[in-house]
Amino acid sequence: MTAGFAAFLALSLIGVVRGQPLSAATQGADSAVSGGDTETPVGGRDYVAEVRANFTPENRRYASIRAALGFISPLFDIAVGLLFLFSGLSARMRDIAYARFKGLYLRLLIYLILFTAVSFIIEFPLTWYQGFALEHQFGLSNQSFGAWLGDEGKGLLVSIFFLGVLGLVALAYLAIEKSPRRWWLWVGLGTIPVIVIGALITPLVLDPLYNKFTPLRDQHLKEKIVALAAKAEIPGRKVYEVDKSKQTKKYNAYVNGFGASQRIVLWDTTLKGMKEDEILFVMGHEMGHYKLHHIWKGIAFGIAVSFFGFFVAQKIYEWGLGRWGFTVRADPAALPWLLMIATVLTFLLSPVTNGFSRQIEHQADKFGLELTHLNEPMASSFVKFAEDSKQDPNPPRFIEWWRYSHPAAQRRIDFALSYRPCGKSGVRAGFSRPSAGGPWVIAGSPCPSIFTPVFYQAEANRVVANVLHLHLESLRASKNVIE
Ligand SMILES: [Zn+2]
Repeated sequence: MTAGFAAFLALSLIGVVRGQPLSAATQGADSAVSGGDTETPVGGRDYVAEVRANFTPENRRYASIRAALGFISPLFDIAVGLLFLFSGLSARMRDIAYARFKGLYLRLLIYLILFTAVSFIIEFPLTWYQGFALEHQFGLSNQSFGAWLGDEGKGLLVSIFFLGVLGLVALAYLAIEKSPRRWWLWVGLGTIPVIVIGALITPLVLDPLYNKFTPLRDQHLKEKIVALAAKAEIPGRKVYEVDKSKQTKKYNAYVNGFGASQRIVLWDTTLKGMKEDEILFVMGHEMGHYKLHHIWKGIAFGIAVSFFGFFVAQKIYEWGLGRWGFTVRADPAALPWLLMIATVLTFLLSPVTNGFSRQIEHQADKFGLELTHLNEPMASSFVKFAEDSKQDPNPPRFIEWWRYSHPAAQRRIDFALSYRPCGKSGVRAGFSRPSAGGPWVIAGSPCPSIFTPVFYQAEANRVVANVLHLHLESLRASKNVIE
């Protein structure tokens, strides 16, 4: 549950920054760009039929269990929270901390350590099943139990370090104590540096705790990626490979960090299992995240969502305090109550955060095609992604809407085969930027390309409008209460 709180703080970062090219969503707006000009698969391959055939009964079983866990897991967290409160366990842990230590910081730190340890033990069966047993049962991981447990242990220590030792929870409690009605605002503001610094240090400090990152070794592939990056005006030297094969057999790649820490990372599983063209498309997709400023947009979105979330949380927290018998507002023993609220809100907001994520994933797909023109390799890469991660390529709409941070594989394949990148449509290839920092020009082409300033402008406006809308909603709601 401690992790739930951290997840709440970094809500969008998890889905957005770890931009897997993997799962999937599609927007109606694309049909305008792709037109009715559907491309017949070259070489006679029917990728949609392939991805459907690969979704065997066994894979379906795995996907169904995963989908069910997505709904069961938050319910389980809530049940554990109730257990802490009803049994008096939470109050007892608070009493232990209060009997031995003085000052909010130390007392909260001790409470957090106890709480993290006890909830880890209570939640262990589900954590083990989700993270270890299920992956092994379906042959998706070779990781030993000891290594897996070690990773879990690191996660707990990181969580205690940031929330307890660095005092993030103590700061939140200080705000709750000093400003009963407005703490959501202070905590929301405090979340801004946490999210920004979190995004900056994740690739430098947190990721290396679990895996080894090395600059891409395959020189031939590297040359091709660097050339692609040069075409998109991205510093190509920041391409890393990571030894993910020690934890999983799934494929992936992502872009994270920002400024000096921003990088594109390829899992070694992807390097091993994908063909060069497929990897190049994946790189084009990741470069899209980079080039379209998805990290910053993700951060802005995360901040807007967290303001909204904390505002609602404050109302519910206040409502429940007396009912749970807490007389002090900033009682550490009330933490399970706060975390239960965070769990519910995170769960209820997931269609919003996943919707945002699917939108930018789709933009990155479009960018990848504009950059590489690798329509077929894109389609075949998603056949592989879906098969390898045993993902439903065509899930029920509700499941996709609620749970998928990326468009479903079948939609991405359909898009890959129907979208006409500007250079491919026969109008002209290539693009240029006459003055440094000036607008992109596609000479002689009215093509609605992703590289045109119009595209950038429209996308930027759309994201800013969405973020502002959420922000205004929370401010408006606060005004009513203050009045
Ligand atoms: Zn992505």
